[in-house]
Amino acid sequence: MHNPFENAMAQLDKVAQINKAKNFNPEFIERMRHTDRDIRISIPVKMDDGSLKIFEGYRVEHNDARGPYKGGIRYHADTEINEVKALAFWMTLKCAVAGIPMGGGKGGITVNPSDLSKGELERLSRGWVQKLVNNLGPTKDVPAPDVNTTPEIMAWMVDEYEKLTGEKSGATFTGKPLDRGGSEGRGAATGLGGFYVFDALREKIGLPEKCKVVIQGFGNVGSNAAEIFEAHGHTVIAVSGSKGGIYNENGLDIKQLLEYKKSSGKLEDFPGSKNVTNEELLATPCDLLVPAAFENVITDVNADKLQAKAILELANGPITPEADEILFKKNIPVIPDILANSGGVTVSYFEWDQNLKGEHWSEVDVNAKLKVILDDSSKKVFDSSLASSTDLRRGAFILALERIEEKIKMETFT
Ligand code: NAD
Repeated sequence: MHNPFENAMAQLDKVAQINKAKNFNPEFIERMRHTDRDIRISIPVKMDDGSLKIFEGYRVEHNDARGPYKGGIRYHADTEINEVKALAFWMTLKCAVAGIPMGGGKGGITVNPSDLSKGELERLSRGWVQKLVNNLGPTKDVPAPDVNTTPEIMAWMVDEYEKLTGEKSGATFTGKPLDRGGSEGRGAATGLGGFYVFDALREKIGLPEKCKVVIQGFGNVGSNAAEIFEAHGHTVIAVSGSKGGIYNENGLDIKQLLEYKKSSGKLEDFPGSKNVTNEELLATPCDLLVPAAFENVITDVNADKLQAKAILELANGPITPEADEILFKKNIPVIPDILANSGGVTVSYFEWDQNLKGEHWSEVDVNAKLKVILDDSSKKVFDSSLASSTDLRRGAFILALERIEEKIKMETFT
């Protein structure tokens, strides 16, 4: 069993070791190993049958040197504190890589949301806000959706927050529905941002103009990425969900697949494709493998079997540190999560900014601003990895740590 927070700390240790030349202050690195706050809550929910059930919830605030804590809320049966801590740590780095004025946080509830009725889910979501209301706020901590949380859930949460505090800017939660102050472009932002990053780095990492792409996970991030890659002339040859996936060497028609999934509730047996397991999917020969589901799916057990020319991490933490070393030796470049999936938090930051200013930007404007930021951070991560003769993950960590350390130094001396 991999502990995601230990994995995250192993990544940090590797960077601190290789980057002797830049000489990060060891006290700063030590500070990054600790979260500012780990909050565990219990949420009592009246179930539809009249019984009371207690759920376990979390908010981890890792670091706010660069701005309010920012990060999604995950609803999953396996969600636990070490996962949330790792995700909060990566958020601190991710916001710094994107250069946005936000810190790192993450939240969650240990629950399988499909076991709940809509009413139970709403009461649970409002309960999470009731327990955390004093920690949240536009200048304190700004949550967003993550796995299994939706714009509708954000609308319940912002409503509960406003009822409890009277604060009406809407800027305490992002990823809201458009009619509740959401931003144009937020839904597709992580997938679109992943595409912009890929496009900015494609030639530099030796990929062809038209790529064969394999995507693990067909939720918000994976399905949007599939549509966007296809729309830009790439061929998506395989995708998967939790129960397995499908493969067609000539390419899947993503629009038809989305309709098929909507009507049948599954990916398997999509006409013209072959069913594959998730393990087979990861080992499929392709130009680009896109993990877009969960952490720890590429490990020392399966990394050797991968036949992708490069990997774009749209999920958070999909590759363990041991697998990272194997891929490095196999010369398979990995575009790391803290760069690759930073489109989501960047448009969340745009949403927060629009809410505070009372503005509403067009989708064209949002996407154009997103591209500018991601082109710039992709270039800076690439240059940072070249300057330290290392891989893109360590390059991204170095860039982020430099930016955070700069702010922390200012905090200390002013
Ligand atoms: P989601 O709940 O919409 O989708 C998750 C997908 O993963 C589903 O298709 C599910 O079937 C699939 N899945 C679950 N278990 C699997 C397994 N064992 N093997 C293969 N597929 C499996 O979640 P999402 O918002 O698309 O998030 C996916 C990943 O992207 C997560 O790691 C999340 O932290 C990360 N991420 C999301 C955002 C965002 O804006 N939503 C932003 C940054 C990063």
